[in-house]
Amino acid sequence: SRFTTADKMADSGEHTTQELEDREEREHFARVVSSFKFYKMYSLRRLHMNKVSYVQLSDQHKNRVMGYMDNLEMIQTCILHNYEVIKLMLQDCQYMFLNKEECITDTDFERAKKLDCAPPTGEEMDKVKTTLKQIMRDWSEDGRAEREACYQPVMHAVLTRLGSRKPSDVKILVPGAGMGRLVFEFARLGYSCQGNEWSLHMLLASNFVLNRCQERNSMIIYPWVHQYTNNLATKDQTRRVMFPDISPLQVGSDADFSMVAGDFTKIYTEPNSWNAVVTVFFLDTAHNIIEYLETIYSILIPGGYLVNLGPLLYHWAGQQNEMSIELSYEEVRKVMLDIGFEIEKEEMNVRCSYVQNPLSLMQSYYNCVMFVAKKPLSRHSHHDVSS
Ligand code: SAH
Repeated sequence: SRFTTADKMADSGEHTTQELEDREEREHFARVVSSFKFYKMYSLRRLHMNKVSYVQLSDQHKNRVMGYMDNLEMIQTCILHNYEVIKLMLQDCQYMFLNKEECITDTDFERAKKLDCAPPTGEEMDKVKTTLKQIMRDWSEDGRAEREACYQPVMHAVLTRLGSRKPSDVKILVPGAGMGRLVFEFARLGYSCQGNEWSLHMLLASNFVLNRCQERNSMIIYPWVHQYTNNLATKDQTRRVMFPDISPLQVGSDADFSMVAGDFTKIYTEPNSWNAVVTVFFLDTAHNIIEYLETIYSILIPGGYLVNLGPLLYHWAGQQNEMSIELSYEEVRKVMLDIGFEIEKEEMNVRCSYVQNPLSLMQSYYNCVMFVAKKPLSRHSHHDVSS
């Protein structure tokens, strides 16, 4: 395993003990696991609604859509197959972190169930469905075009700047690593590379791909099976996706490649540690993007780079009781210069999609901003210069 978990930093509140936090973490883990376990029931229930509607059709109308029911049966088969993959993913997941004996025990699981007998929310179930699509994005041939649009520009930017050094001496951090493909690609080139990810849905799935799938295209999922609308061909909904499109064993066990679970802003406090911080669809996950940018500036080695590509679809925007600072790119740019970054490269309108079904009748894409910002070798922020 290449996965470790960072213990949450203690809150300043007097009553928070490590024990309480541990317990909260275990309960959170249990809730995520139970959302995956709920997948089959949840998905079949949705499918059932279609069956109920179909049954209400007149015989004449039924005859006009012969094969409709067969397709619903096909959808059911795909859901059941996805669930088998999910079960594989959950197998032994309590041992996924190298530095933690077990992140959940049966008693934790029982307690979590009792404390919170509410079934997983729609939002939690969306995360499960998205996880299947993220596997497509990062680890399938079907996701190649999407990956090339997002990952190639940032890889190119890193390689042109740091490519002449001995790769193993170059330390690259990828916060918000998702399913881990970008981290993997840097590791494949020999860089010392660490991914950081906060979502257990993502971590469970990427742990499965990276540590348990060995052969190319040995697994199948049906990531589009929940998309009942905007299908051109009937069979588009039940189209299979094979993964992984590359054997994870292509990165040897000697590679310096790791994934750390936890909140980026809490974990990365050591200044001057990384040659490059590479963010793709990540900066806008911040409650406070100013804090993210300051953290990144601080942890970069002088002369190091922040390489970013993404939109500004602030994740916490408009959510009740959640802090959310929603800066325009214009403002983000000013903040970066103010912190001391030098903007070396900037490109607008980089068209990227995110877990997009390429055959869907509905397509959406982002006009991303891509930039390279450098932490200067010696600090000359414009304040120093003008004074
Ligand atoms: N870079 C990946 C994933 C982008 S989605 C890709 O391009 O596919 C943004 C990711 O950041 C999500 O997986 C989310 O769980 C993660 N994330 C959000 N806030 C985070 C934080 N504070 N620390 C670490 N990861 C975080």
